[in-house]
Amino acid sequence: MIRCWVSLALALGVFAAEPVDLIVSGRQVVTMDAKRRVIPGGAVAVKGERIVAVGTRAEIDRAYKAKQRIDRPDALITPGLINTHTHAPMSLFRGIADDLRLQEWLEKYIFPAEAQTVSPEFVRAGAALASLEMIRSGTTTFADMYYFEEEIAAVVKQAGLRGVLGQTIIQFPVPDAPTPQAALARTEAFITRFKGDPLITPAVAPHSMYTLDADVLKASRAMATRHGVPLLIHLAETSDEVTTARERHRTTPTRWLDSLGFWGPQTLAAHGVWVPQADITLLAARGVGLSHNPESNMKLASGTAPVPAYLAAGVPLGLGTDGAASNNDLDMFDELRTAALLAKAVSRDATVFNADQALYAATLGGARAMGLESEIGSLEVGKQADLITVELSALEALPLYDAVSQLVYAGARHWVRDVWIAGSAKLRDRRLVDIDTDRLAANARRWQQTIRQVPRA
Ligand SMILES: [Zn+2]
Repeated sequence: MIRCWVSLALALGVFAAEPVDLIVSGRQVVTMDAKRRVIPGGAVAVKGERIVAVGTRAEIDRAYKAKQRIDRPDALITPGLINTHTHAPMSLFRGIADDLRLQEWLEKYIFPAEAQTVSPEFVRAGAALASLEMIRSGTTTFADMYYFEEEIAAVVKQAGLRGVLGQTIIQFPVPDAPTPQAALARTEAFITRFKGDPLITPAVAPHSMYTLDADVLKASRAMATRHGVPLLIHLAETSDEVTTARERHRTTPTRWLDSLGFWGPQTLAAHGVWVPQADITLLAARGVGLSHNPESNMKLASGTAPVPAYLAAGVPLGLGTDGAASNNDLDMFDELRTAALLAKAVSRDATVFNADQALYAATLGGARAMGLESEIGSLEVGKQADLITVELSALEALPLYDAVSQLVYAGARHWVRDVWIAGSAKLRDRRLVDIDTDRLAANARRWQQTIRQVPRA
């Protein structure tokens, strides 16, 4: 009722326009809200780090007066994209070894390179490169699983990106922890340090069921529950994992983890390629989110996650790129299109995983999969102001019949013109704000020299 009076009063010009920090207007606002409103001639008003209004430009201009306004008459305004699975520092391994079988790729190239190079300096350089690639391609939140996650958090915070950052726990000695117990202790310290941070959500990231024993997996779950933080894990990425679970535990990866009490809300499983229907139903019942990584799964020939079955079961589904060594980029526009096309190709049904479902997975679906849907994922009043403009003036973006379809089937990361995260500009007119890109490039080239010298296993 009060809202009606306020609207009426505003319409009559009774109140002066309310001051806000920013108004962004565009050709259409693609809200991704529950009604999936697309507002022609729309605008978004931002105060501090939050969205205070979404409506037509005329409505917003009547009610608000902005310190700064950005008018993009040929652009779509959309929520920032959410990448639900990556290993940010692995950007420095982009292209290190391609066209290989997963086991050979891991054992001959990735593990030896990681053993020799992963250090605080390495993860800082890699995470910086990844952060800027993500910002430039319209990603505003990402989920990470790697080592020295506190160093990654510092870089990500400095870049102004939002991260759900999972400290890796693994059974064998790794550069940041000689034992899984040391990894658990490091994870707890990391959580304590970053809990409550406005941009960083610390998380527990036990690597997978095949690289950890039952005790460490249970301890990981207990830690996530104790601190109320997300739990991230790789699940059934390859058929080998299913074989391992059968041989070791006489069951499936999902069911063995369930027998440990591992699954619960705010739990994000990456890949989920080899998961039978009964286990999908179980994941749905436990409130587990799934990160679908079609390009990485294709490149490593891991298989294809049964996306329609996850959606039908009601599993919150997000999209992810995985690390740049198996993709080889962190481009969510690529992932959007690939996800939509792959689901159709394997099911031989063109109606499967339509453009709206794909864009939902890359925005609010990803937020739900990580338990962050009340804060991010759509352009709605009260949510974090994580938004992007996608320029449609280029010839290859014409004509425009349907905004969502255009984004998914024709869109590309170079169409991204502006990015705001928590109301703060990170990309303005395609330029990174306050970033020394020359220094970053020099750093990446320097690391390439070091990584090149690592002997193959
Ligand atoms: Zn991964």
